[in-house]
This record gives sequence, C-alpha cells and structure tokens, in this order.
Amino acid sequence: MADTGWEHKDAVEWCKKIVALMGLQLDVCRNENKTFLSMIRKRRKFPSATTRQCTSDLKRGPIQTWIRRNIKSTTIINCMGMRAQESRSRGKLNPLKRNKALTNSKRTVWDWLPIHHWNEMEVLDYLEKRNIPLHPIYRHLRRFSCRICIFMNDHDLSEVKQYDPEAYRIIADLEKEINFSMRPGKYLS
Ligand code: SF4
Repeated sequence: MADTGWEHKDAVEWCKKIVALMGLQLDVCRNENKTFLSMIRKRRKFPSATTRQCTSDLKRGPIQTWIRRNIKSTTIINCMGMRAQESRSRGKLNPLKRNKALTNSKRTVWDWLPIHHWNEMEVLDYLEKRNIPLHPIYRHLRRFSCRICIFMNDHDLSEVKQYDPEAYRIIADLEKEINFSMRPGKYLS
C-alpha cells in the first residue's frame, strides 16, 4: 500500500486487516519527502487529470522504490485492481505487460490487472462469496480513494462535506491559501 498522507484515517489498519484475511502481511510505503497536502502547498496548485503528481509521486513512485529496495532478483507480479468499466482511460490499459522501468538483468516485473474485464457485480459477488467486507466508505462514495480525490464530482463532494467535514474544510482552506481551486473555476467554499 502506498500511503499518500491523505488517506482515510483507518485506511492503513483496514488494509492490514483485509490482507491478513489471506494470511499475508501488508507493507506500507510513503514518499519520504512529501504528502498530498505538502505537495500542493509547495507547488501552489492541485494535481489534475493531465498532471497527476499525486499518483506518480505518492503512489507509483514509492511502490517502485519499495520494489527496487526490497526485491533484487526474482519475478514479480505487480497486481492492480483497475477495471475497464471505471473510465475510458482505464479501458485502454493493457491488462498484462512487462514493466520496463523495474525490469533489469536480475529482476523481471509484470504489471497485471487481473480484474480488468470484471464488472461491478462480479467484484461484489467475489467479495461476498469470500466474506471479504467492503470498507464503510462505499456506503456513500464510489471509491476508497484519498479522503478527497481530485476526480470527485459534485455528488461525491457533498457526501464528503456531510461525512468527513474535516477533510472538506482542509481542502477548502487550502484552496483559499494558495488561491487555486482543486476543480477548474469551482472553489469548495
Ligand atoms: S486517490 Fe485521487 S487524489 Fe489520491 S492519489 Fe489517487 S488520483 Fe490522486
């Protein structure tokens, strides 16, 4: 798990619990130099769909660093849960490809999207049959993302305002502080 520093308060513990159901241990990595909020404060702007530093610097980067530091030689299957139905860009992803950035003469890394072709019902069915619980956030949000994600729509944000007013206030205050809104032309306040 890559912790952006802007995860739901119980996210790490929750993920540890789910991984433990499979008899596994969760490793948590972080960017040692920045969090979601400190990155925005320093750049004085939010990430966007085209400049998505939150994913590259706080998710992908720390996971790649973790793999480089901890796994020197073997074959690694890097499984991720993106599904084609989630968005047009996810639909275009290749479900199995060699990760060129992480593969070297001793280590081969494959990026695999094992549920890329699944629909939402298949996901829910899979979880139910194995008694794997959904995080409570799914009662009011579509994704278990950061507390507020740059891709949230009006409905998501009104839910956050109701269920996590602290997160809403932090982002609204940050927008005012840097004079830059998370969504073009739409300040949370
Ligand atoms: S969940 Fe949203 S805000 Fe968080 S890292 Fe991913 S894209 Fe960025």
